[in-house]
Amino acid sequence: MHVAIIGGGIGGLTLALSLDAAHIDCRVYEAATRLRPLGVGITMLPHAVKELQALGLLPGLLAGGVETNEIIYASREGEVVWREPRGRAAGYRWPEISIQRATLQSLLLEQVDDRIGQGTVLTSHRVVRVQPREPRVDMGFAPLPDGTVPPPASADLVVGADGIRSRIRELLHPDEGPLHTPGITLWRGVSRTERPIGSGMASVVMGNARAKFSCAPIGQLDDGGQLVNWTAALRAPVQSPEAEWNRHAGATAFLDAFQDWSKRLVDIPALVQASDEVFEYPLCDRDPLPFWHRGPVTLIGDAAHPMYPHGANGSAQAVLDARRLALELSRRTSIEAALRVYENARRPATAELLAMHRAGGPDSILDLYETRVGDATGPLEQVLPFHEREQIARRYRKLAGFDAQTLNYSPTMTPERRVR
Ligand SMILES: Cc1cc2nc3c(=O)[nH]c(=O)nc-3n(C[C@H](O)[C@H](O)[C@H](O)COP(=O)(O)OP(=O)(O)OC[C@H]3O[C@@H](n4cnc5c(N)ncnc54)[C@H](O)[C@@H]3O)c2cc1C
Repeated sequence: MHVAIIGGGIGGLTLALSLDAAHIDCRVYEAATRLRPLGVGITMLPHAVKELQALGLLPGLLAGGVETNEIIYASREGEVVWREPRGRAAGYRWPEISIQRATLQSLLLEQVDDRIGQGTVLTSHRVVRVQPREPRVDMGFAPLPDGTVPPPASADLVVGADGIRSRIRELLHPDEGPLHTPGITLWRGVSRTERPIGSGMASVVMGNARAKFSCAPIGQLDDGGQLVNWTAALRAPVQSPEAEWNRHAGATAFLDAFQDWSKRLVDIPALVQASDEVFEYPLCDRDPLPFWHRGPVTLIGDAAHPMYPHGANGSAQAVLDARRLALELSRRTSIEAALRVYENARRPATAELLAMHRAGGPDSILDLYETRVGDATGPLEQVLPFHEREQIARRYRKLAGFDAQTLNYSPTMTPERRVR
């Protein structure tokens, strides 16, 4: 079996390593001319770290990122509404790791080159056409800037791991229409801080659905400082409806909205101003799909289920898709059967998560607090009792697949080794 993976992002490269572990041949076709260090920070939650550890990547993750052991939710006045331990501090067998997207992508790419071979990832290969021609699938590529066109290729299975603006998804669902954007803009950046914020191991989320700020440490600096990833979200006209990850923000006027926020946990203006670059991105997702595969063509990651970043689950879900798909392909002789089982396992679960993110995800603790505090005075416990806050957090962990009890006692999705 030969698998063509379209897209060399987090999902595509994890799939390549997982297929290799199962002795299934694959090649990655990537649109970018080279995989440059792009993107700011992402969080690898314990369910994804568990799978990446099974691929032998834990030492690299720990060396490249920061183990986060707590998340704090607070109002704009700095009142802590909810805090919970994370990763190993919360009893998981695996850490939670915040890391620069580029560092994670480089780590995965290095391993693909080492284990499968240089040339497994073909850059400058933007797939524009996919055509099933029994029993194979043909692929055609966009012309390069010099006018030449990469020769067409074919495979037994094509997997669209081509992100939020997936061409493979568009080919499977031509009438889908534009991205769903609720009118919120996100500004993102990475700042160098001289000293860690708080314990240096906590993620912080402040505000509510109208104006929100979140940050997490993603890198340790030699001088004792840290790299801190931050995101500011405001109701504001969307400048980039096409969802380009690397669109530079023209200005930091959005900071005006955060000037009078409490500095007790995070000095937001100082943190933002310490950032070399600020990117602008619309909050966006897509409706769940009625199917992910047709014939030997399927989807994983953001191509299958782009979702709001509340809960920091996008890359983790891409890792879970990749692992599950490789596992099912390793177990079955028929590609069709494997795709069916993979889709039945992952499509309903991610659709439910997508819906929960639209309703605020774990951050809805803050929205609920904000709604209640308008009418009530008194201690937090009276405004929003512990059991309600705990229920939101627990429900999210369960739905997203990182409930500690279940995770600690279930096997990894390590594919079975096939005879080459
Ligand atoms: C440049 C970039 C920066 C990002 N920055 C952040 C960030 O700062 N924070 C965050 O939370 N998330 C970021 N993301 C998204 C995050 O990586 C994903 O949400 C998550 O990791 C799921 O990964 P994925 O593999 O499904 O998609 P992605 O990681 O988005 O990877 C998709 C890959 O497919 C390639 N591709 C697209 N179209 C084609 C095509 N037609 N043919 C071949 N290849 C194609 C893209 O170049 C990309 O490498 C970024 C994504 C990209 C592409």
